[in-house]
Amino acid sequence: MSFIRTVIGDIAPAELGVCYAHEHVIIDPCYMTEKHPDFQIGSVDRAVEELLRFKEDGGRAMIDSMPSGGRNPVKLAEVSRRSGVHLVCPTGLHLAKYYPPGHWMERLDAEGCAALFCDEIEIGIDANDLNGPDRQPLPIRAGLIKVASSERWGRREEVLFDAAAIAHRTTGAPILTHTEQGELALEQIASLQRHGANLDHVVLSHTDRKPDIGYHREILSTGVKVEYDSAFRWKSGNPTRELIETLFAEHPHQLMLGMDAARAGYWKSYGGGPGLSFLLKAFPLPPEVFAAIFIVNPAQAYRFCA
Ligand SMILES: [Zn+2]
Repeated sequence: MSFIRTVIGDIAPAELGVCYAHEHVIIDPCYMTEKHPDFQIGSVDRAVEELLRFKEDGGRAMIDSMPSGGRNPVKLAEVSRRSGVHLVCPTGLHLAKYYPPGHWMERLDAEGCAALFCDEIEIGIDANDLNGPDRQPLPIRAGLIKVASSERWGRREEVLFDAAAIAHRTTGAPILTHTEQGELALEQIASLQRHGANLDHVVLSHTDRKPDIGYHREILSTGVKVEYDSAFRWKSGNPTRELIETLFAEHPHQLMLGMDAARAGYWKSYGGGPGLSFLLKAFPLPPEVFAAIFIVNPAQAYRFCA
């Protein structure tokens, strides 16, 4: 029986419900937030307030997308318990620029990185957020593997995507990737495919930041899923909506939505906007499109491979 691994336990995929496929519920102070203070969204109370509103508006689940560096699974578990919203926490690593120079990843090969990821999925997420010196597994396990590519495909990308594929093959955990402004999606797919990943359980984020239909058709023809999160960001027109309108008929089982609202200024509970309910309240979709994008596809994408 397949399952989705949330921060408070494994659930049947059918229990997931209306799900944002790429979100940030908690970001604690870290190297990244020193440079970008607005990325700091560490308050459990404010997260609970925002998620209770999301739940009132029909939301049931969010895939948190913060890997090592600013992650706090203990807070996520508390937010999940108090709000009643399912939350999934990743293992993995983000872009190099979010870590201090000399980060341990630079010294590890793919097998070394994959071993850390596997431990966080099978045993427990490290209480020190993989910042060392020791590791202390929490009784909270990671439910997906998050990796990122920068604007150029280099050694770091090669090692990280190889590591993600190894951890995925070993544990069955799904993979969520960050694309930089939607670029290098095809390089990500080629690398994961070369290393044996099951593309049904691979989700590429932010690809709507490059709203080129031909490019999207090429990505979707490989079988991966994509997550769009710019619906609330466009200043004129809405290319995210146009992509959905064109591509849903061709690839109904591969599109998902999230907000990636990783700034206090986007949250109502921090006094900003539009708030995490935006997609449910202000981005109307036909019922069959809504059901596929928010319920059916996340339940398929984020389950562990049998
Ligand atoms: Zn993100």
